[in-house]
Amino acid sequence: MGIPAKDQRAQRILERLTSQYLIREEDYVTLHVSKKGERDSFRTLVATILSQTSTDKGAHRAYDRLNQRVGVEPRSLANAPLKSIAAAIKIGGLHRTKSIAIKDLARTVIDRFDGNLDSHLSSLDPARIRDVLMSLPKVGPKTADVVIMTHSLGFSLPVDTHIDRISKRLEFVSLKARYEEVRAALQDLFFEKDYHRIHLLLIAHGRHACKARKPRCWDCLISDLCPYTEKTEQE
Ligand code: SF4
Repeated sequence: MGIPAKDQRAQRILERLTSQYLIREEDYVTLHVSKKGERDSFRTLVATILSQTSTDKGAHRAYDRLNQRVGVEPRSLANAPLKSIAAAIKIGGLHRTKSIAIKDLARTVIDRFDGNLDSHLSSLDPARIRDVLMSLPKVGPKTADVVIMTHSLGFSLPVDTHIDRISKRLEFVSLKARYEEVRAALQDLFFEKDYHRIHLLLIAHGRHACKARKPRCWDCLISDLCPYTEKTEQE
């Protein structure tokens, strides 16, 4: 019996991954930030910059230290010496580059929105929010989509490296598909209410089973729904 069509598999994959993985705050820096009662788009942008090429644990620590020592607010970051920001976030790696990006972001939010990004975003049509976020320094499509999803500013399903890889192995998209194509395919396959959940679950699955180098297909609870296993077994 062949593998069912992708729209038939999507819901079953969501259910099985839900039964397999606990979504824990400590595994996702954006959850860590929002569960601390800091549901604030600027803070999420800073957390996302800190998470780039860093582990979530490193990003958490860097965020907490920056918050304690400088404060994760546009004015405190814009006024702080660059070296203080860099020292606070050193534990997360790439501290020089990230400190420049964070300070630049803080200055832009002050210059353009008088320091209050959320009040500006809340005045916009949802279709404009993504464009405004992407007009900020160092904010690309994925970061903008993370903010939109985390703060329910609209519906978007951000695609990180794990989600991109798994979507291709599951043949939800072709191997050549780029960011927007993968995002659109996933948004078609899942209900809007499930975007945040499937985003977190696919990241968990990529970290624990569907790893980049050696996917643990023999131990994967969705292997019967995945064309990749059939192919590798035939090789
Ligand atoms: S069967 Fe293998 S390739 Fe497919 S999702 Fe599971 S681990 Fe990834």
